[in-house]
Amino acid sequence: EAEKRASEDAHVRELESELERLKQDNERLSFGARAARERASALAEEVEVLTGERTDTSGLVRKAEERAASALDLRGQLDERIENLQRRGAQLEKALDSERSAYSKAAERVEELHEELGRVVEERDKIRNALQDARFTDRGFGELLVRAIKNEVATLPTSLESTAQAARLMEFMGKVLQAHADLRSPGEQTSEEDPDDKDPSPASQMRKTDGAGSATLPRVGGYARPRPTLSFRALGGAGEVGGSSHLLDFGKTRILVDAGIKPDGRGPVTPDFGGLDGLDAAVITHAHLDHCGALPLLVRDRPKMPIYCTPPSAKLIVSALNDHAAMGGGLPGGAPIHEVRKRLVPVPFGKPLDVGGTKVTLTESGHILGAASVLLSSGPATVFHTGDICMEDHFSIPSARLPEVRDIDLLIMEATLADQKPQPFSESIRTMVDVINDTTLERGGAVLIPTYALGQAQEIILGIKHYGREYGLDRDVFIYVDGSVVTTSERLYAEQLGYMKPYLQHSDPREIFFSENIRAVANDDGARERILSNPCAIIASPVTMQGGASAFYRRRLEKSSENAVILPSNAASYYGTHRAEGEEEQWRVERVSFAAHCTQDELLGITEKLKPRQIILIHGSRRRISDLAFRLAPDHKIHTPTVGETVRTVL
Ligand SMILES: [Zn+2]
Ligand SMILES: [Zn+2]
Repeated sequence: EAEKRASEDAHVRELESELERLKQDNERLSFGARAARERASALAEEVEVLTGERTDTSGLVRKAEERAASALDLRGQLDERIENLQRRGAQLEKALDSERSAYSKAAERVEELHEELGRVVEERDKIRNALQDARFTDRGFGELLVRAIKNEVATLPTSLESTAQAARLMEFMGKVLQAHADLRSPGEQTSEEDPDDKDPSPASQMRKTDGAGSATLPRVGGYARPRPTLSFRALGGAGEVGGSSHLLDFGKTRILVDAGIKPDGRGPVTPDFGGLDGLDAAVITHAHLDHCGALPLLVRDRPKMPIYCTPPSAKLIVSALNDHAAMGGGLPGGAPIHEVRKRLVPVPFGKPLDVGGTKVTLTESGHILGAASVLLSSGPATVFHTGDICMEDHFSIPSARLPEVRDIDLLIMEATLADQKPQPFSESIRTMVDVINDTTLERGGAVLIPTYALGQAQEIILGIKHYGREYGLDRDVFIYVDGSVVTTSERLYAEQLGYMKPYLQHSDPREIFFSENIRAVANDDGARERILSNPCAIIASPVTMQGGASAFYRRRLEKSSENAVILPSNAASYYGTHRAEGEEEQWRVERVSFAAHCTQDELLGITEKLKPRQIILIHGSRRRISDLAFRLAPDHKIHTPTVGETVRTVL
């Protein structure tokens, strides 16, 4: 029994321990299950996050894909646009090319038309001249008239059915008849004339037929009006600038206005005085060489003939001839300059002279000191020769004073700047001051201003002296004056105070041009070298820079880029003409307008004031003269002679 109980107890204990083990197992397992659940839920969460991320990424990928697509699209569009633009560019290029060729064709055409205009004007003038020589009794007159009509109405209609054209023709014929009414002369007069007469000039005919020496046409049958005739011959300075010399032949009086040379050596240097017989007098308008340089030749063969000019011109002419000779420009075979000086007869402005019955008066032309225009009266007729004329206000001398004579018969007018717009001297001075300041202060260089010794130089000096400060010229800059400018300014200009502007007339003559900052340079190269050791400006003659002081400075300054040269008008046209091939200048080159001549508006103003019936245009390039002739033609009878040509007119 006891054994049985003992085994039962043992069995119970075994079961209990078994249970205990099972409990423990259960506990372990449930713990594992919980951990597994937790792990599962963590994994699920992770899966969720990853899924979310994956969704985001695919969104991004999609967006990126979309962007790539649109970029491709855009690229396509851009390519297309580029292509379009290239096409457009090519089209424009083509269009531009055709525009260019059209433009150059048009420019050529303009050139052609200009030439044609020149030819037409020439032809018209020729016909006019011929018409003036012709008499109504002349055999060729009818033919001339027909040519003139053709010229004027372009074609001569076979039948004059067009009333407008017929009316125009009638009107023109009326004008021609009116203009030439003076020339009517009776047939018997013509038949008496020497058939071998080579010179058809009315003037020369007058000398033959009119013993009394009166310059009137014979009054027969009430047709002819007593008007003097004039034949004008250009020995130089017509259709060109340079070598001015004009013969005014009134029949009973022959007067030569000016005897100039061509200082630039283009074409013959002096006028041909060979065929000039019976001159009564010469008048020299002013002391520029293109108006007085040939005096030694003129004087040589005419020892008795007086040469009239204004008192300042008499001094300036001698000085200009001496300077020119000193520079090697003397005329071989000409009379010595002291002979020329003895023959100059000074005549004050406004004082009338009697030259063989023709009244000659010199008036101020405002071009340079002493420069004159010439007013000539022969019987009832007046002729006005402008000489070189300037209406603009100068710094040194008063501007031109036109004569108080209305309805001038013939105006002989210079046309140097006939196509130019006004450019006041003050503006040019302002430009000079800017260049001087910039060159001397900013770059430490020197400025050369080459100039004519006479007129232009004094204007520049006075302009800088009186307006330099106003335009900002630096106080420390020195302006040096060198070459014959110095003597011309000091002696000649300062001696003629009475002819200068009132504000200068009470100055101390030594202080008119020079001051603390504007100084003359001694005439030696050592002095010149010394002034170049500091930045400065130099006003020096001659204008060509081909000798004398200005050539010295050109050689010293042109090779460095810190220096500058300022070329006033004429200097600009000479500049570079003597430069050898391949020679290069380094200095800064500035051009300013500084010419004492009338611009287009001023020339037109002169014709408006003087109201001339006829105009002869001189002293200008052919292009400028035909340009001005074109503007004046509707209201005046215009002549545009060239050198050697004669214009014959009834005044
Ligand atoms: Zn001149
Ligand atoms: Zn001139």
